[in-house]
Amino acid sequence: MNKTISDEIYNKLHHAKTIASVNPDKSLEISEEAYDLAKANNLGLEEGYALIGMVFAYRIKSDRSSMLDYSFRALSIFEAREHIAGQVKALNLIGIAYFYSSLYEEALRYFLKLEDMLEFNRDDFLLSGVLNNIGEVYRESGIYDKAMEYYEKAIDIVVKNDFSLYHAAILSNIGQIHCDKGEFEIALKVYCKSYDILVDSNDMVSLGEIENRIGKVYFEIGDIKKAEEYYFRSFERLKDINNKYYVIDVLLNIAQLHLVKASRKTLNFYEKAIEFADDVGAKNKICQIYRLTSEYHESQGDYMNALKYYKNYYSLNEQVMSSNLSNKLEMINIELKNIETIGKFEQIKTRLEKEIAIQKDELEKIKLANEMLEKKAYEDELTGVPNRRSINAYLKKILEEMSSKEEQIVLFMIDIDNFKKYNDYWGHSQGDICLRKITDSTRKIQSNRNDIFGRYGGEEFVYISTPLSYMDALELGNLIRAEVERLGLYYMEKGEHRNVTISVGGVIGNSSDFSSIANIMEIADRELYRAKEMGRNMTILRDMKTLK
Ligand code: GH3
Ligand code: MG
Ligand code: MG
Repeated sequence: MNKTISDEIYNKLHHAKTIASVNPDKSLEISEEAYDLAKANNLGLEEGYALIGMVFAYRIKSDRSSMLDYSFRALSIFEAREHIAGQVKALNLIGIAYFYSSLYEEALRYFLKLEDMLEFNRDDFLLSGVLNNIGEVYRESGIYDKAMEYYEKAIDIVVKNDFSLYHAAILSNIGQIHCDKGEFEIALKVYCKSYDILVDSNDMVSLGEIENRIGKVYFEIGDIKKAEEYYFRSFERLKDINNKYYVIDVLLNIAQLHLVKASRKTLNFYEKAIEFADDVGAKNKICQIYRLTSEYHESQGDYMNALKYYKNYYSLNEQVMSSNLSNKLEMINIELKNIETIGKFEQIKTRLEKEIAIQKDELEKIKLANEMLEKKAYEDELTGVPNRRSINAYLKKILEEMSSKEEQIVLFMIDIDNFKKYNDYWGHSQGDICLRKITDSTRKIQSNRNDIFGRYGGEEFVYISTPLSYMDALELGNLIRAEVERLGLYYMEKGEHRNVTISVGGVIGNSSDFSSIANIMEIADRELYRAKEMGRNMTILRDMKTLK
């Protein structure tokens, strides 16, 4: 009777395993049924294998803590029964769960333990898998020699046994090492060998992945056409099987390709990649794309969008990092629940402290970069004073605050006189220095008075003060103008010295006098125009009150 129940359980588990990669939820459900059946009939080993069945499903679902939890439970069942084959499976899955959580030291500990066990209980299929996994841990930790050593051991076994798909996967990992080391020609050779093995299989995911990797190598060696060809092949293939996760990487590679081609399509591919990442809820990918998008805008000098995406990146990254940390915490909790070893607490404490320190460090770096971008987005690059965007924002705020009070606002538009001639005489870079000197002169006045002063564009500036009487405001405008004249900057025209001067057009009024920011600017600009017409180097200030 138990024999038939046992058969039924194993049949269920076999079915669960075959559908795990396409329907992990269903697979989980079937394994749970198998588990209940085993439990009800006191079938210990079957219970352990049913737990392993659940782990396969959790692996596909990327639920690492459940993976770990159920693997540990299976392990203790197999240990109690001294059932080696089961222990080996459970240990391997424990290692993989740690590996997926970037807990490499733990992963390595379990894989090495397994390697020892398998020496005595030889199972070539599992052994080659474990050796490859050890290689992966070393590769992820950047210890390439060790990684190669293990990959090669694994290759020996798979070749002997003709595990061809496994062979292809290990070659692909080896290629990645060469790629990381910048040995692109070798990487290409190894990848192509892997591709040759895979091409006759119908393992679309591996094929799509290797095509993407080959594309990347072609990109690195500068063969853009080939790179494009492989990327698109990979893209089509992965899209066909609806594997959105890998498609994201392919799209990011294509975006990078367009970046090099200086085509404007880069952003389109980032957007597409975000859509896919959104679909599969891959927050870490979205985070990465936000960052790339921010860097793209920054390279284009679009600091506002750079800042926007950096902010997105910043907040999402915080979420991702804290969820990584809580995931690690959960893993450690599971470990504590399952193994009690003296001294373990200390070890875990140091491990956690290390993790938290890394996270803090990372956040600090991001914060600094954010501040830098923020500055760039609101600051004029040449002179360091607020830029047009920043002035408009100030002005908006001031006008809003003023609307409830009867206070006056004074706004000056300032324009350098005959600046074109200065540039023509001294050259553009001297012109830049002149712009900086004039800015510094006015900035001194502004900072003493706590006013607002910025570059509105080209050789035009805006100065805002509040509140002042008409006479005081006029005096202020003239002070700014006189200080520039006092700098003694000049150019020659028809053999004569010409002093660099500025014209100042201003307006004074309260918020109800102006219909908008543009309106207050227009009025000041009109006065500036009049100052120019009347001979330059003068201040004209319009009083809104006298006109009512
Ligand atoms: P006006 O007195 O009527 O204002 O004459 P202008 O020559 O100052 O005015 P115009 O608008 O004809 O020329 C402005 C010049 O300012 C032309 C441009 O090359 C120069 N300019 C604008 N931005 C910069 C800059 O960032 N650096 C330098 N060196 N020159 C600039
Ligand atoms: Mg001008
Ligand atoms: Mg000018």
